[in-house]
Amino acid sequence: MTEVIDGNAVAADIREGLTDAIERLADADARPGLATVLMSDDPASETYVSMKQRDCEEVGITSHHVEIDPDAPAAELLDTVAGLNDDPDVNGILVQMPVPDHVDERRVLRAIDPAKDVDGFHPENVGRMVAGNARFKPCTPHGIQKLLEHYDVETEGAEAVVVGRSDIVGKPMANLLIQKEPLGNATTTVCHSRTADLAAHTREADVLVAAAGVPEMIDGSMLKGGATVIDVGINRVDADTEKGYELIGDVEYESAKDVAGAITPVPGGVGPMTRAMLLYNTVWAASEQANVDVDLP
Ligand code: NAD
Repeated sequence: MTEVIDGNAVAADIREGLTDAIERLADADARPGLATVLMSDDPASETYVSMKQRDCEEVGITSHHVEIDPDAPAAELLDTVAGLNDDPDVNGILVQMPVPDHVDERRVLRAIDPAKDVDGFHPENVGRMVAGNARFKPCTPHGIQKLLEHYDVETEGAEAVVVGRSDIVGKPMANLLIQKEPLGNATTTVCHSRTADLAAHTREADVLVAAAGVPEMIDGSMLKGGATVIDVGINRVDADTEKGYELIGDVEYESAKDVAGAITPVPGGVGPMTRAMLLYNTVWAASEQANVDVDLP
């Protein structure tokens, strides 16, 4: 029987554990605060930010929100980040990407205080993770690690294949899988848009992480029997639904579920974990900054 990996359930456990930690921090006068900065009028970005604010409210994290006119000069965003770096009520800072073309995204990421960089994209935090001394692990791969842990998926000595090499998913996922630590120690292959024979690699995978953003590009014939399949893809495709679209993954679920040993659905797999791990990183940041020890889930 294929196990369906329930991201909603694991994320709910994590949020419950965080609520206890947040209460303890609040008792020590150190309630966590997350600042979200939006410099865009893209409806999808607006939705992502409002979801993050709602997630914060639900667990007791104070959310601070700043909106910047997308036509404003880049300096306005950099000044905002500098102000949040200095604000003791703000423990974590998230600038919603993408920023407008006239703003240098890398410069924005470098401007965030690395101790408040809850996305884990500042070069200092990327370097620390690669060196095996992570401060903030990026939310999506961190959430995937929690799923693997929860479902007792053995990564040590396993063949892991990551499809995708983005800075937010593919690269950090591969880096975590090769670390000499629990949930690492996998022999890891990274496939990408120039990989010559994708299926030849995916068929070797005991653990497959698909993060290419190509709808249903991996089907059951491309999997090893019993593999653990983590589908990161969230692709909006036209469909005869109320909204006129549906969300599907990078894996063709119907054919994959008959071959895989365990598989994440889309939606309800990795997505809720990404959201939960942003809260986790914010709580961890608050406990570090206030020097108050808390148990994290
Ligand atoms: P991206 O576009 O930045 O990167 C995609 C990567 O896939 C690239 O490195 C590219 O080399 C590789 N790729 C593209 N086509 C390929 C092909 N045909 N064969 C092999 N590799 C190919 O995307 P991203 O930001 O990493 O996101 C990937 C997907 O995951 C998207 O669908 C995105 O919406 C989704 N996503 C989901 C979550 C979540 O929480 N579930 C979080 C982040 C991203």
